[in-house]
Amino acid sequence: MQYVFVVDTNKVPQNPVHPASARRLLSSGQAAVWRRYPFTIILKTVGLGPLFAQPCRLKIDPGATTTGLALLQGNRVLWAAELTHRGQRIKALLDARRAVRRSRRQRKTRYRARRFLNRARPDGWLPPSLASRVANILTWVRRLERVCPLGALSQELVRFDTQLMQNPEISGVEYQRGTLAGFERREYLLEKWHRTCAYCGAQQVPLEEEHIIPKSRGGSDRVSNLTLACVPCNQQKGTQTAAEFGHPEVQAQAKRPLQAAAAVNTARWALYRVLQTTGLPVEVGTGGRTKYNRSRLHLSKTHWHDAAAVGASTPDTLRLRHITPLLITAMGHGTRQRCRTNASGFPIAHRARQKRVFGMQTGDVVKAIVPKGKYVGTWISRVVVKASGWFDIVIHGKKASVHQQHCARLWAADGYQYTLAAAAATLFPPRTQSPGSPQRFL
Ligand SMILES: [Zn+2]
Repeated sequence: MQYVFVVDTNKVPQNPVHPASARRLLSSGQAAVWRRYPFTIILKTVGLGPLFAQPCRLKIDPGATTTGLALLQGNRVLWAAELTHRGQRIKALLDARRAVRRSRRQRKTRYRARRFLNRARPDGWLPPSLASRVANILTWVRRLERVCPLGALSQELVRFDTQLMQNPEISGVEYQRGTLAGFERREYLLEKWHRTCAYCGAQQVPLEEEHIIPKSRGGSDRVSNLTLACVPCNQQKGTQTAAEFGHPEVQAQAKRPLQAAAAVNTARWALYRVLQTTGLPVEVGTGGRTKYNRSRLHLSKTHWHDAAAVGASTPDTLRLRHITPLLITAMGHGTRQRCRTNASGFPIAHRARQKRVFGMQTGDVVKAIVPKGKYVGTWISRVVVKASGWFDIVIHGKKASVHQQHCARLWAADGYQYTLAAAAATLFPPRTQSPGSPQRFL
């Protein structure tokens, strides 16, 4: 389950409520459904005001393909999501567009001015695939800001904190005790040795921290004497130094500290700057601390668990057992390319000018009530519209063709696809409920 967001009649965010309370409010007519994603109800009265709402903290673990989101109030997780980005898809689309333009220029047509090397990149420019990741996350921060009393943000910014790791004395008790420092050190080593065994190059195997000059031979615990080795290599090396083991290059590489710039992730820093524009305080954490918190709280490795464990503000206990994350996938807003080409770049089809067909468009979530035939039944699915009136929806994981007259829109396309986890479906009020309410959120 997930907590249900509540806004009052003036759309002022209230404390999120347990789904049972939301159901009571809906069935007694004190509230109506306002948004389906994230599921929000709107009270018919003025709420208690923002002063009575307990501030929530949104924690973000940005990833290359998937970003984890977790919303905490005190030590309780109220809502979680996993946001899957478009990444490579954007690059592929831009490549395709480039190919179409190139082919057009080469054909015997009127002269078209070149459209490359004619634009300057502004400061802080990000490749479109990365920019879209940052924009996806900002969109969701803004959406949550509108429906819940958001007071602070936490973001994982870097993999490890070099300064804290190298100078344990500047960072207080926690680092000196070493548990957290160990996690930071491990992240540093993974980055420095590219997640491979330094001796045989093995990847995707358990790696151990290994002393280049063994401790028994007077080697120190400093990171400059540490590397990563797979279990067989570590055992085979025994009490030899790396040079004696036949790998003098490991000794040489270990002396070079990892350049700070090498570990800087542009997209994460761009996200950090963008989050600051929300005006909310942004706490930043390291990957080492996230792992430390996650193992301390005995959480499994999922994106939203990682998000819940980001930052020093993570409480000592977390109440999250009943949470089902909402799975969100960025889908984009369709294409403006009217001409479809075959694999060789020849135009083969032209798309209609308008996106809307019979009042619906691709990406809407529809409820299809099919009275007879192969697909008889009631289905809720994302739709792909066709001018013929035969729309594609997904039934039992397969594409099915359903006529538009059986479809009613529940949710307008907003660039994201939502996986209707079982929990989210049960949150939707029963059909007997105020028939006017579903239109409220369109
Ligand atoms: Zn090895």
